[in-house]
Amino acid sequence: MKSGMLAAETIFEALKKENYSAQTLQLYKKKIDKSYIKGELWKVRNFHQSFRNGLFDGFIYSGIQQISGGHGLVDPMRAHPGHEAYKQILGRPAPERFKGDGKLTFDRLTDVYHSGTRHDEDQPCHLKVQDLNICATRCVEEYGNPCQYFCPAAVYEMVKEGPGLKLKINAANCVHCKTCDIADPYQIIDWVVPEGGGGPNYEGM
Ligand code: SF4
Repeated sequence: MKSGMLAAETIFEALKKENYSAQTLQLYKKKIDKSYIKGELWKVRNFHQSFRNGLFDGFIYSGIQQISGGHGLVDPMRAHPGHEAYKQILGRPAPERFKGDGKLTFDRLTDVYHSGTRHDEDQPCHLKVQDLNICATRCVEEYGNPCQYFCPAAVYEMVKEGPGLKLKINAANCVHCKTCDIADPYQIIDWVVPEGGGGPNYEGM
């Protein structure tokens, strides 16, 4: 939140000056460096990368970082786009869907129900997929359609159509987390604001 606030301040300054040059926008880095978040984030900048090769390596690398004040064994560690990891599960059988114990933890659709999500069923779909052909061709081969797994609300389903597969979007389930907009390997999903103020309403949880 703080980094977002600092970004907004930087944009505001640029708008006032009508100057959007790299030099003006450098102010963002200066603000981050002066802010309390710099110290907090610097110490954990290699944390995610530490777990790239599994839990064992992750515990060792991240543990050493913690006791060395953030330096660790390798610094900086190379970061990889998150979607590269999807390839590791390609071709394996889909993991058993989480069912929960029915008391404190639940399956995805029961959780969607608990979120109180409401959208008018006849409104235009607010999840804009720019190229459905990629979903039915390249993504099947290259990543195994990970949207079916990373969406917490079971919005995306690959259904059989003729000899192949087709993307079905259950947009009314969407809990507005925006994971798909970020995690999609081809960056072809755009989450836009739905009509009529629909969305989750967590009051009942
Ligand atoms: Fe699913 Fe979240 Fe994307 Fe909605 S915003 S479709 S809940 S991943």
